[in-house]
Amino acid sequence: MLNVFKILDADTGRVAWRCPGCGKLHARETVVRDFPGPWNPWNGDMEQPTFEKNVRYRLHSHNEDGSIKSVIVCDSTITDGVATFINDTSHEFAGQSLPIQPWV
Ligand SMILES: [Zn+2]
Repeated sequence: MLNVFKILDADTGRVAWRCPGCGKLHARETVVRDFPGPWNPWNGDMEQPTFEKNVRYRLHSHNEDGSIKSVIVCDSTITDGVATFINDTSHEFAGQSLPIQPWV
């Protein structure tokens, strides 16, 4: 198997993955330090990762004048390398499960 997570920062345990639902890059700190943002412990498995908590993103796209054009909510649990999109997700994969694709 191939890694679906990529470690961006060893100190904070920041990992990234390509979301199979919204198609965007997501990242999360996994180690509690002095980092003020959201963090999420995981099982340490790079190929079939499991997060303890769900991962929720609000993704904004903007008009040229800086105003908000649209908002996508992408809310998932990640278990054994599979993202399951919770029903408040606003994209087409709400309620579905999709495997996270490996980094190539
Ligand atoms: Zn997403």
